[in-house]
Amino acid sequence: MILEKEQILRYMRHIILPEVSGPGQKKLLESSVFVYGSAVKEASALIYYLAASGIGHIYCYFQDRNGYELLVENVRDLNEDVVISLIDEKSWCEGQVKDVTPIEGFVFRILLTNFKRKDSIGQHFSSFKKYEHFLPTLTIVENGWKGALCLLNSPEKLDSFTSSISKEFLDNKLEHRECLSEVDGSILTASLLSTYSVVEGIKMCLNIGRPLEGILYSDLSAMEFKVIGYNDIERLTCLLLDNAGYEEGKATEHKKFADSKVLIVGTGGLGSAAAYALCLVGVGTIGLVDYDRVEISNLNRQILHSASRVGMPKVDSAHFFLKRMRPELKVITYDTQFNKNNALEIIKDYDIVIDGVDNLQTRYLLNDACFILKKPLIEAGVLRFDGLGMTIMPGESSCYRCIFPEMPKPGSIPSCSEAGVLGPIPGIFGFIQAAETVKLLTGIGITLKNRLLFFDGLNSEFIVSELWKNPKCPLCGEKPLINELVEYKFVCDNNN
Ligand SMILES: [Zn+2]
Repeated sequence: MILEKEQILRYMRHIILPEVSGPGQKKLLESSVFVYGSAVKEASALIYYLAASGIGHIYCYFQDRNGYELLVENVRDLNEDVVISLIDEKSWCEGQVKDVTPIEGFVFRILLTNFKRKDSIGQHFSSFKKYEHFLPTLTIVENGWKGALCLLNSPEKLDSFTSSISKEFLDNKLEHRECLSEVDGSILTASLLSTYSVVEGIKMCLNIGRPLEGILYSDLSAMEFKVIGYNDIERLTCLLLDNAGYEEGKATEHKKFADSKVLIVGTGGLGSAAAYALCLVGVGTIGLVDYDRVEISNLNRQILHSASRVGMPKVDSAHFFLKRMRPELKVITYDTQFNKNNALEIIKDYDIVIDGVDNLQTRYLLNDACFILKKPLIEAGVLRFDGLGMTIMPGESSCYRCIFPEMPKPGSIPSCSEAGVLGPIPGIFGFIQAAETVKLLTGIGITLKNRLLFFDGLNSEFIVSELWKNPKCPLCGEKPLINELVEYKFVCDNNN
């Protein structure tokens, strides 16, 4: 099989990554994944990113199948190269990989579980031992705002992990903790960790990078990530059940979540994931700004768009997807170039702004406009296998110019279209942005204010470092030089 012309366009952002390239994409298309999900709702992001990345065969088993038809319809329209099929419980439990044909390439398994449905989880973990064929397994356990991801890439690891976790489950030590905030973080945790599991799956399939070692524990309420040993299930249990990261939402000081308005500038890779997650957790209004049209080369990562909507304004394509997912969501679209003449007018009615842009001049414009209007800005940027994110509280925390005072020279920083980006990476950061938004709107947890989150996908690392306000910042420093929106001249044409 060689890639066809349309496939080359579709996977262009992958193909220009030397670690993937054409032969790598071909391998991904020949690979298969078995997905076990407690519920379609929590596993949907996982399925979308597997499909967008071009994992050729997706076999799923869901305990709760509510929403499966819409998911499959969307997946087929997102990527017709991918075959998605439902398998029954018997086939799943017996691990009848050999009965499903044709399986030629790399095969792996992703297990996405939550504490509410623990009975059957224990059973699935124990049943792995009976499998004839070893399958590398990515296991995700989610408990509200906290969760864990573990890669079991040898029979020994699978054995030891499943014995200890089954014991914990069967002993009923793990209890689902009801979320203290108005919004349950389950969807955010499940979406983030499962989208990250796609990165690990791709790395295994292509034998690139450094695989995740140990158990990655994540707490989105505190934006904390740490790696613990495979056998340290007791510590994992303590971490997952500890309530220290939570603070009760100060409902009186905050609007009702359902009345909140969030503006997302850019409906590409970051904006797709952020809008998807905010729609699912129940935000009231989402504003979308973009003047691009949907292109086939967007579809390796921009899960709100689809092949049948190529050519459509991105804001309309996103509007269509979101309204089908949750009809009561209010979506306001701006099919226009975000610039210094309309920035303040568009932003002023929103509670929070999410940066989903792919060029530096709009990033600086957003930073300045949000500072002038005192609107919180959730920043993120992705490239290749990496991403970074921070939350800017104007006047209170470091802004984008505190770190990068001036726009770099044209050509000094490559764009995604020049350097490529792995499909799930913007997904991970869009979900981080959604989590930050929910925390700010409900008043719980600790945000990335004055902190920078860096993710290195090839080396499986999340690093959070401290930031400080820069007294010499030309925007928010002691002697500000910028008091109004200025010319943003740096031009980075992403279509070239
Ligand atoms: Zn600043």
